[in-house]
Amino acid sequence: MQVAVVKETGTAERRIAPVPEAVDKLRSAGHEVLVERGAGDGAFFPDDAYSEAGASIVSADRVAEADVILMVGRPDAAQLGRLRAGQAILGLFAPLTEPELVSQLAAANVTAVSMDLIPRTLSRAQPMDALTSQSNISGYKAALIAATTFGRFFPLLITAAGTARPAKVLVLGTGVAGLQAIGTARRLGAVVSAYDVRPETRTEVESLGATFIELTSVGEASGTGGYARALTDAERAAQQAELADHITRHDVVITTAQVPGRRPPMLVTDAALKAMAPGSVLVDMGASPLGGNVEGSAPGETIVTDNGVTIVGADNLPSTMAAAASAMYARNISSLLTYMIRDGEFTVDLDDELVAAVVICRDGAVIHPALIKTAEAAD
Ligand code: NAD
Repeated sequence: MQVAVVKETGTAERRIAPVPEAVDKLRSAGHEVLVERGAGDGAFFPDDAYSEAGASIVSADRVAEADVILMVGRPDAAQLGRLRAGQAILGLFAPLTEPELVSQLAAANVTAVSMDLIPRTLSRAQPMDALTSQSNISGYKAALIAATTFGRFFPLLITAAGTARPAKVLVLGTGVAGLQAIGTARRLGAVVSAYDVRPETRTEVESLGATFIELTSVGEASGTGGYARALTDAERAAQQAELADHITRHDVVITTAQVPGRRPPMLVTDAALKAMAPGSVLVDMGASPLGGNVEGSAPGETIVTDNGVTIVGADNLPSTMAAAASAMYARNISSLLTYMIRDGEFTVDLDDELVAAVVICRDGAVIHPALIKTAEAAD
């Protein structure tokens, strides 16, 4: 079987699906590996490293002839145009929020597998869990960005020139990224508090040495599969108002809140920003073109408000640590690919709940139940 690796074309995307080590393993399993010229440059894996691992370095057109295509992000128009019927393509396609891409993949008659739909609850899927591997990187990097943007120390520092009190950091959303942000901020010496609408995260927060904040105005909002549900308008307003008091008592706020398939919940309003002290810093990991967790944030932009509060809109943080992110993602995608190969062929066994959870379209049709439901609701 021919497995090909494309050069990512997404804005500021530096990752590559498999690192050379993963290519070596695919070759050992008997597959021919094609890597598009320069595909690893952004993560500092040169073509030579892939050649040494046994891959052929080829053009974009040649990549498009393979049986299976491995990607990190989504294919662009040119890559979509080169897809062949019956081919399989694996990547992080965010299908719940990208219905147009889903339709395009179905129209291309390919088997599309979205790495962000890996079920978190299946233990055999853990090595394939790309959302977790990439969120860990995002959380770590968000805490580092917060520390370097903040004009004071994170740790307590006692020197002959004076004493610096430790920074007070608040992490909103304590899923994978939030917990990693807490751990990183704690290791830098900050005093950390955290909040999530899923109260079951309290134990994990406390085990990292942070204080869990409980809101009285909003109850539990756990959804299905370990995710949060979207809040009602009344719950959201109550949450924003109560959170504002906590936000103003902190020097640094890192927001990571997400609800699958929805725009990120707004947690820090303009009123809360205006009440923060000058020099405060927010890093919004939810920043997106649709809006983020912080009012006014924009992905890839750093804004300083009139009252001296810096808002950093995070944008593809895993890509800023492309070598580590690619190494982890390579493990995830190789595990899923290996799992789906039976007798040397890429096989779609929809009776397997893991496979059924990740295949979004096949034979010209969208087959994923959640996507069919979303499309029906939109009609
Ligand atoms: P996510 O990225 O979907 O969301 C991040 C956090 O934001 C979540 O903790 C969510 O509860 C929180 N959130 C959403 N709306 C909010 C609001 N209005 N206010 C405050 N917080 C809000 O979550 P994730 O990091 O992908 O984790 C999702 C689940 O998957 C978790 O239950 C996690 O424990 C689980 N998980 C399990 C495994 C495993 O078992 N192997 C691995 C990874 C993750």
